[in-house]
Amino acid sequence: MVEIIKGDITKLEVDAIVNAANCTLLGGGGVDGAIHRAAGPRLQAACAMLGGCVTGSAKLTQGYDLPAHYVIHAVGPVWSGGGKHEDELLASCYRSAMQLTEEHRINTIAFPCISTGIYRFPFERACGIALSEIFRALDEGSRVKQVYCVCFSDEDLEVYQKVLATFGQPT
Ligand code: ADP
Repeated sequence: MVEIIKGDITKLEVDAIVNAANCTLLGGGGVDGAIHRAAGPRLQAACAMLGGCVTGSAKLTQGYDLPAHYVIHAVGPVWSGGGKHEDELLASCYRSAMQLTEEHRINTIAFPCISTGIYRFPFERACGIALSEIFRALDEGSRVKQVYCVCFSDEDLEVYQKVLATFGQPT
């Protein structure tokens, strides 16, 4: 089941939340900053041990003070016009995150809209890529039972729900 919801991802009681991280994994602005603040300093210490992460990939830590058990740190591309493999790199983030759910027995997961903030990826386009990869993983027999796509504004929620409707999710 895939649901688009509005809210603060740091508050969700799920097995894993996904962070829109940067290559250093050492924290930043936007949702990354919010996750680090809510998870406490142990998250930063754990991230510092990971040696960074390449764009289009993801690494996992515990959730520490978060209600979520794990954080999957996915590094999305910076949008620079669409000619720098941004679509493929964004898809790869979602694939990497879904792959980690298999390895860590994650049944419920929440994604923010990776790359659509400071990294300026066009929002509607990002939603289509996210949903394509999420549905592909579910179709391929992922263990995940529940996926939340978390929006931070009413406007984003409306766009994301419109894109979801085009996928014709079975109910
Ligand atoms: P990026 O650098 O990948 O663009 P940002 O954190 O700037 O990452 O933005 C990614 C998305 O996360 C944006 O759509 C932004 O509105 C959203 N966002 C920011 N804070 C939160 C939060 N606490 N919970 C959920 N989404 C958030």
